[in-house]
Amino acid sequence: MKREESDPVVAIDGPAGSGKSTTARALARCLGWTYLDTGAIYRTLGWLAVQEGVSLDDEDVLVALCPRLDALSFRWGEDGLLLVFLGDVDVTQAIRGEEAGRWASDVSRHPRVREALLDLQRSFAKRGPLVIEGRDTGTVVFPKARWKFYLTASLEERARRRLREMGLEETPENLEGVKEAIRERDLQDATRPVAPLMRAEDAVEVDTTDLLPEEVVNLIKRLVKEG
Ligand code: C5P
Repeated sequence: MKREESDPVVAIDGPAGSGKSTTARALARCLGWTYLDTGAIYRTLGWLAVQEGVSLDDEDVLVALCPRLDALSFRWGEDGLLLVFLGDVDVTQAIRGEEAGRWASDVSRHPRVREALLDLQRSFAKRGPLVIEGRDTGTVVFPKARWKFYLTASLEERARRRLREMGLEETPENLEGVKEAIRERDLQDATRPVAPLMRAEDAVEVDTTDLLPEEVVNLIKRLVKEG
């Protein structure tokens, strides 16, 4: 694809705990570009559905909830923390844990829910160059993204990172529990018929297992700056 035909977008995809959020946030801040965590959109929808007592299997009702996500906004908090608001409600904590991750995975299986959330995701690129992260940002949301990355890491390491993120101690039980939750979520995300988690053909794959967060950011920053 010629440069002029591509979108000024960095798309970072990969499974849970592969380092997407840390990398994408640091990159967006350092480039001064807009940042979008698409997982937060699906998480908020899952949370909203649970609040409203809607079944996560009911595609029609979930699709009807989607326009309410137009009220979603993001603000940077202290220490690079991303605060997520639905209207005036701060949902940052409510959508954070593995349970909310599972709700997100359940609502995001539905093809018409994904379709209904595409315009919202794409609208973020209207504000200028964008760093976007998720599962299908380089394959479906921005297939013409100029830079595409697919991050991976071992299950063990991804589970450790998730525990740290959630502020939980690394006991064998906690580790096993998170590993199981991540394994199930990855399986559901990778085997759904629409927009499954997969590497775009033209994405650069980065195994972050043995890399420090700043090493991943520097690597990606270098590739983005190169062209
Ligand atoms: O990235 P995060 O863990 O916050 O994503 C939560 C869930 O949202 C994923 O497990 C996946 O089911 C769904 N998701 C998706 N497509 C995206 C981003 C997230 O299906 N682009």
